Amino acid sequence: MTKTISMPISIYALGGLGEVGKNMYCIENEETIIIIDCGVRFPGVEFPGIDYVVPDFTHLKNNRNKVKALFITHGHEDHIGGIPFLIQSLNIPVIYAPRLAAALIRNKMEESRMSDRLPLVEYIDDTVVNVDSFRVSFFRVTHSIPDSFGIVVDTPEGRIVSTGDFKVDLTPIGPDINLTKMAKLGQEGVDLLLSDSTNAENEGYTPSEKNVLDAIDDVFSKAAGRLIVSTFSSNISRIQQICEVAAKYNRKIVIIGRSMEKAMDISRSYGYIKIPDDMIIEPERIKDFKSNQIVIICTGSQGEPMAALSRIANGDHKDVHISPGDTVVFSSSAIPGNGIMIDHVVNQLTRCGADVVTNSTRIKTCLKII
Ligand SMILES: [Zn+2]
Repeated sequence: MTKTISMPISIYALGGLGEVGKNMYCIENEETIIIIDCGVRFPGVEFPGIDYVVPDFTHLKNNRNKVKALFITHGHEDHIGGIPFLIQSLNIPVIYAPRLAAALIRNKMEESRMSDRLPLVEYIDDTVVNVDSFRVSFFRVTHSIPDSFGIVVDTPEGRIVSTGDFKVDLTPIGPDINLTKMAKLGQEGVDLLLSDSTNAENEGYTPSEKNVLDAIDDVFSKAAGRLIVSTFSSNISRIQQICEVAAKYNRKIVIIGRSMEKAMDISRSYGYIKIPDDMIIEPERIKDFKSNQIVIICTGSQGEPMAALSRIANGDHKDVHISPGDTVVFSSSAIPGNGIMIDHVVNQLTRCGADVVTNSTRIKTCLKII
């Protein structure tokens, strides 16, 4: 009688552990490799002149015939940004992604002129995918971008759950986290849980996006002059909130920064951000309105030297110059390691006379925690 000895499962990360960015898990057995996420990392001052840091795909290239599918948890760059580079390196038979992530990936591939090489399939909560001996299913979580999911991989050797990025937000901006499905998975048993979180070492709870909405409203209610709000272009939920509050206070919205414009276009066309066309104006029209009728939403909350906010702070932006009375809001937490770059931009803005609002008590000029 022959006895089959199956190869144990290997689970490894090609990026994303112990760093913020380039998330990429792989699950491998004798015949199959499936990948969860393929992100980039944005280099800080340590890599001058480098645009992106991508995971090392050597192992996948050496085992290209075993790579069967890529699963995406959500549409943040540190989870999808590496896809064009991966597809250039080896054939990925199919990519499964939730709706918004799929739209962002499609756009990314069009920009790279590789959209014809994109075997993209959208999944929803109930989708189940069989890849050889792996059975893959999904559960909805709440995060700072709509359509974020955790991934369950049932293998002959046991169940692996990767949560993706999430926070338990009981008053989210979009659909609820599927706690029922998560509880059921817990009851049935999970053999390996993969879950990591930025700032996990900090005590306490992450506030709900609803609290953030109140804080944004407070800033709008107190700002007498022009408002400039900087956040990640991928933080669709936050942009949505800023737009809603802008509508309440009758401020026209100006979008500055290429990635912010792109995120806004995609989110509006898919219905994730709902604002009338006449609320958005081109930067050249800022001068046609009073300062208290304008909110500028821009990139650069991490102090990135080439992003819109840095250019505005340095006086290099053709349409926006800081003047006393402007309020500048950093509406994103600092990614560890970016503190010096952020401080530099805050100093520049303060020198020009702006009131700067950050979520860090580290910066003495801060007016309010948001
Ligand atoms: Zn994320």
